[in-house]
Amino acid sequence: MVKVSEGKPEPNPNKGLPTWTLQDFEIGKPLGKGKFGKVYLAREKKSKYIVALKVIFKQQLEKYRLHHQLLREIEIQSSLNHPNVLRIFGWFHDKDHFILILEYAARGELYKELRKSKHLSEKHAATYILSLTKALAYCHEKHVIHRDIKPENLLLDLEGRLKIADFGWSVQSRTKRHTMCGTLDYLAPEMVENKAHDYTVDNWTLGILCYEFLYGVPPFETESQTNTFKRIIKVDLSFPSTPRVSAEAKDLISKLLVKDALKRLSLQKILEHPWIVKNADPSGVCSGGVSQI
Ligand code: ATP
Ligand code: MG
Repeated sequence: MVKVSEGKPEPNPNKGLPTWTLQDFEIGKPLGKGKFGKVYLAREKKSKYIVALKVIFKQQLEKYRLHHQLLREIEIQSSLNHPNVLRIFGWFHDKDHFILILEYAARGELYKELRKSKHLSEKHAATYILSLTKALAYCHEKHVIHRDIKPENLLLDLEGRLKIADFGWSVQSRTKRHTMCGTLDYLAPEMVENKAHDYTVDNWTLGILCYEFLYGVPPFETESQTNTFKRIIKVDLSFPSTPRVSAEAKDLISKLLVKDALKRLSLQKILEHPWIVKNADPSGVCSGGVSQI
């Protein structure tokens, strides 16, 4: 989820860009299903450039009054240009749909690879955390807080480079999703308690993801939302004995999962942390798929 600083101009995302239509694309296989539509593999006919088209039903958007929010979020994502942030190349609409033209992430969701391998090696986990930290530092510089970082929203390109996707586009839908589907796991204590929060919520989420990459489950997972909520606000953190995880990794996680937002390790300090320095591949490429330890 994206939040922008106040005082941004009204959205006009397609300003100066060519107007696309569906006829400009050959549509391929479906890549996934979103809340309000589907994502397809596609090829732009003239350039033969491969993209992903996210097709969103206008009717659904109107039902939830998210139209304006969508345009605003497209504008934010269009302004971001970073190797670890999924690019949005443009958008267009027809009578029934909004269509977003997105960078194609050939290896799909990191979530799927994580579920397949159960947990990641320290090298892969550190490489993903480094990529995420760099992307978040870039976003924060631009006053963008994602606020909805979780494995489902992290995609991989052909080489295994991590891309933050799904800039949400709606606080409303996020709130709804959390109350309905119980994805509290990635939220900082101040968010689950509905208190004021800032960019440090993303630092907390990095700690959650680092834990999940290494152990295969998020640290405060329980069978019920109420109990997860309690564990988050208590920061009820423990490290299982298996899989075996290095003391340096645990040190980084403990310094991110800190209740006092001001005391969480800064993004700069994450980049310098011994576990990252020792394990992460600075190129951001996780080759050879996601392996088990
Ligand atoms: P939102 O939260 O914005 O409603 P969503 O989570 O419902 O979005 P997305 O995450 O954008 O929908 O897309 C649904 C699925 O489609 C993803 O989980 C992923 O598997 C696939 N997908 C989306 N974008 C791409 C892409 N650019 N390249 C490859 N696969 C993609
Ligand atoms: Mg998603």
